[in-house]
Formats: sequence, C-alpha cells, structure tokens
Amino acid sequence: MTPDPSRPGEPRSDWTLEEVRGLFALPFADLVFQAQSVHRQNFDPNEVQVSTLLSIKTGACPEDCAYCPQSVRYDTGLEREELMAVEEVVARARAARDAGATRFCMGAAYRGPKDRDLRVIEEMVRGVRALGLETCATLGMLTPAQALALKEAGLDYYNHNIDTSAGYYDRIITTRTFQDRLDTLAAVREAGINVCSGGILGMGESEGDRAAMLHTLATMEQHPESVPINQLVQVEGTPLAGAAPLDPLEFVRCIAVARILMPRSHVRLSAGRSEMSDEMQALCFLAGANSIFYGERLLTTGNPDVERDQQLFARLGIRPEGAREGSDPTLAPRTADVDGWRCAARGHSGV
Ligand code: SF4
Repeated sequence: MTPDPSRPGEPRSDWTLEEVRGLFALPFADLVFQAQSVHRQNFDPNEVQVSTLLSIKTGACPEDCAYCPQSVRYDTGLEREELMAVEEVVARARAARDAGATRFCMGAAYRGPKDRDLRVIEEMVRGVRALGLETCATLGMLTPAQALALKEAGLDYYNHNIDTSAGYYDRIITTRTFQDRLDTLAAVREAGINVCSGGILGMGESEGDRAAMLHTLATMEQHPESVPINQLVQVEGTPLAGAAPLDPLEFVRCIAVARILMPRSHVRLSAGRSEMSDEMQALCFLAGANSIFYGERLLTTGNPDVERDQQLFARLGIRPEGAREGSDPTLAPRTADVDGWRCAARGHSGV
C-alpha cells in the first residue's frame, strides 16, 4: 500500500515507528478527533459488527502464555473439554444466527491443531458456512498446508494475535517466538483467508511496546481485516494475575491509533470489555472501535451483561452491522463480552 497524502483515511503500510509514536503522543482530543475522522471516511460510525465465539476445545494447552488460564502449566481451576462434536457446534451456530450473529468464531486451545483434529474442524467450518454465517477459527499455529485445507473448507477468517511487541514477547510467552506468529499469519494470508490479528494491553508493557505492536500490524503489506485490541483479563493462577491495571485512557489511545493506522480494518473492542464502564466503551467507539463479541452462552435472557449491552447500544444509537433480515432485533444487539477465560485465551483466540 502506498500513501496518498491528500487522503489521510486511505490505507498505507509504510508507517514509521516514529509516526506511530507521534500519534500516541498527541493530545487526547486531537487523537480521538483524527481517529473519528478517519473512521467516518471508511465506516458508518453508528454500526458495530457483532460476532459470536464458541470454545470448541478448552484447556490443556501446552503453551505458556502468561495471561492464559487454558495453559496446562497454570492451576486456574479451568475444566478441560475435548473437541466438541460437529453436530453440536453447528447447532450452537444455528442458535447464534437466529439471534442475529453474522459471524461465528470457533476457538480451540492448541499450540497448533493435529491433522486428525483439523479434519473434524473442517467439517465444522462447512456446517457453519452452510447456515449462511461467516466463519472464523482460532486454533494456534498453522502450517501452510493446514491453512489451505481450512480455506478449502470455506473458512473466511483466521485469528492469530501477535499479542505484544517483538521486544516484549518473550516476557509473555517462551514456548514460541514472535516470528512463529508472523509465519502463521503469512500462511493464512497466502491461503487467501482473511486475517484477524491484534494484541493484549495491560500486561506490563510500555507505550513503546504498544506502538511497536501496532506498527508491526500496520506495516503488513495488507492490513489484518480485523484487529482485536484486548484488555488483559486477570485470572487467578496465571503469572499475570496482579499485574498493574492499565490506565483506561491509554487503552482508548491504543484504539484510536489502531483506527488511524489501519483505516479499513474492523478494530475490535475485545476481551476485558465487561470490566469497562459504559463511558469508556463509548469513548472506544468514538475512537474507532467497530466490532465486538458476544458469547453464545449469553444469548439467554436475564443475563445482566446482555441487558447492560442492550441499553448501551440503545443509549448510543448503535446498530449491529449487517444484521440478518428476520433475526430478532431485540436479540441482535445483545452484545456482551465472553467470560474471562475465553477472553484471556485470545492470545491465540484473541478475536
Ligand atoms: S493463549 Fe492459546 S496458545 Fe496460549 S496457552 Fe492459551 S490456549 Fe494455549
């Protein structure tokens, strides 16, 4: 992507690290104004894309991601669950579709899937796609052949977060390298699958790390189509439990910088959302966030998180992007964050 200086909302991939740091250093009002201006050039500012996430295989992951309760190395009391049956996943997807979701993401706690398991997941992808839903998966590292197999099964998006900066990476994960992440992302892109990749804030990283992380994403030849920005969900038993909390305005800053750097990507307000005030979420939408998750288990009525989200959308006049005709409009905006362990698990499932 080459820049066109006359059109600041156009995508470009030649950002320098100094430019990114300069954005972080802007006065808050200037930064948010710029981000909202770029946002309006590319999106309806009152629409937010809504996806649903289902954990199809939970826990017992051999990796050591310091934020993740699904790692087998940390005692967090999480119950392991084997890979779900295809029929069950498709039934959950159907329920999500009927409630207004347009994209269905399947997350599995793997370092990378075994080919035997991948065959099963390909069937899930086919089944979910046959319902008319967009499909997304997050399964850890993929080989180029595995990425191609998922593409052939009809996978639309693959989530694989870079988590943090290259320089801070080994403070968070030691069982794989930053380059491993980039290699999987390259395989996904090469296979023709849309890329979803972002990171987690509040892990003790510096603003410079946050700038470097966004710089890595924004200088990809093609920006990720989705950029989840997660706030660490601290889980007792993981090494990052007790980390110093992030200044909420620093989180908003990061959303705004991501919006400016990657003007046509969906910037996802992701894990940690349920711990944010309504006012902070509103600021994030103002700064250019335009995608969120709800969890399938939150589709039941009477859930206070769901009701809070309904009210927030109504108060802000936000509509779900591309809601299906015939879906229940009262359910469609039921957008709540998924529960903590799933959120925190999004180092690889950080959708
Ligand atoms: S973030 Fe993913 S790869 Fe890391 S421990 Fe958790 S499930 Fe495993």
